[in-house]
Amino acid sequence: MDEEISVAPVTPQSPLGLFGTDSLIGEEDRAIRDTVRRFVEDKVKPKLGDWYEAGSVPARDLAKELGSLGVLGMHLTGYGCAGTSATAYGLACMELEAGDSGLRSLVSVQGSLAMFAIWRYGSEEQKQRWLPAMAAGEAIGCFGLTEPDFGSNPAGMRTRARRDGSDWVLDGTKMWITNGSVADVAVVWAQTDDRVRGFVVPTDTPGFSAPEIKKKMSLRASVTSELVMDGVRLPESAVLPDAAGLSGPLSCLNEARYGIVFGALGAARDCLETTIAYAREREIFDKPLAAYQLSQAKLADMSLELGKGMLLALHLAGLKDAGSLRPEQVSLGKLNNVREAIAIARECRTMLGAAGITLEYPVMRHANNLESVLTYEGTSEVHQLVIGQALTGDAAFR
Ligand SMILES: Cc1cc2nc3c(=O)[nH]c(=O)nc-3n(C[C@H](O)[C@H](O)[C@H](O)COP(=O)(O)OP(=O)(O)OC[C@H]3O[C@@H](n4cnc5c(N)ncnc54)[C@H](O)[C@@H]3O)c2cc1C
Repeated sequence: MDEEISVAPVTPQSPLGLFGTDSLIGEEDRAIRDTVRRFVEDKVKPKLGDWYEAGSVPARDLAKELGSLGVLGMHLTGYGCAGTSATAYGLACMELEAGDSGLRSLVSVQGSLAMFAIWRYGSEEQKQRWLPAMAAGEAIGCFGLTEPDFGSNPAGMRTRARRDGSDWVLDGTKMWITNGSVADVAVVWAQTDDRVRGFVVPTDTPGFSAPEIKKKMSLRASVTSELVMDGVRLPESAVLPDAAGLSGPLSCLNEARYGIVFGALGAARDCLETTIAYAREREIFDKPLAAYQLSQAKLADMSLELGKGMLLALHLAGLKDAGSLRPEQVSLGKLNNVREAIAIARECRTMLGAAGITLEYPVMRHANNLESVLTYEGTSEVHQLVIGQALTGDAAFR
């Protein structure tokens, strides 16, 4: 009866190795994931602590490297995009966020928000003009929906686009915009006389400026900006012709938050792997931290949540690849995986003791980043409301 529990030492397994989730991933998707993982390990991780401390990131160089890697707009087709599966895109997000949520944010905003908006709703001319350059990382995009007074409720937006002859004139302020100050093109959502419309705004248009937001304690290796539009005059050809109302930007957010379902787990995995390695080395009283029952209970519980989150992410990826993923299902993944990831990051921090508060280890950096991830792309509370509405039929947003 006792043969299932052996007290002899065993070879340690990684948390996801324990779950065997690789067996659920096709060979091609795994190969893409491994390429992104190598890039993050070799090219980015060694520099992240310094970027984070300085609160500045070489976004232009990074975008070109990410373009060469093929991850910018990787799940889109044509116009220089790789056309990978949704699963491969999710796995790439996971590897990027195992580096830093800021790195994944750069890629999410570029590919799933700015490029997706143009790819899905743009004119052929807009696609030709921007998508190949954005896929290559030669041009950077941002996505301006949130305003100082309207985050969770973008329908209240005050940014206005009014007709002037055949032109449009944009006035307003957007807030918390990733990539804003380094962007060549901004997809800006504005209220018009009849509905919300999207505009493709070259950032050198007179009247457009994008001051960077400083003093952040989270996502410090990511550019976050205000977008100020003061009489920005645009031709009719700047309108996204196929976006009708708020469903346009919301569909883009749905794309980006799908990436977060995987991305957040990347941050959690990096925390957990770092902590396991640390705990095996760190001698406390007279044995390694990893050999205490309290430590193992924490590691077991965190691994369970990581593995369950991964199973959920892969399930949603399968639905997305089959073309049947619904927005409220993405909410399930975003709510659960970000919530569990931040809990894992904080618990890991406790196990590193004082060392956990430094940038020598990635754990507190991830924990702080995940505060932003919890808030953007729909806060946890908003996703609870989305799920609540799906379960009851009643919208409780107001
Ligand atoms: C680092 C960073 C990068 C970002 N990048 C971008 C970007 O590139 N583009 C972009 O457009 N936006 C971006 N955002 C903005 C982000 O999407 C918003 O911050 C988010 O939508 C929340 O809006 P808010 O900050 O105004 O919070 P609020 O909407 O003011 O929410 C405050 C609190 O109220 C809660 N709340 C809201 N509604 C309800 C309700 N009905 N019932 C109960 N509680 C509720 C929220 O959950 C939250 O806890 C970014 C944000 C951050 C932090």
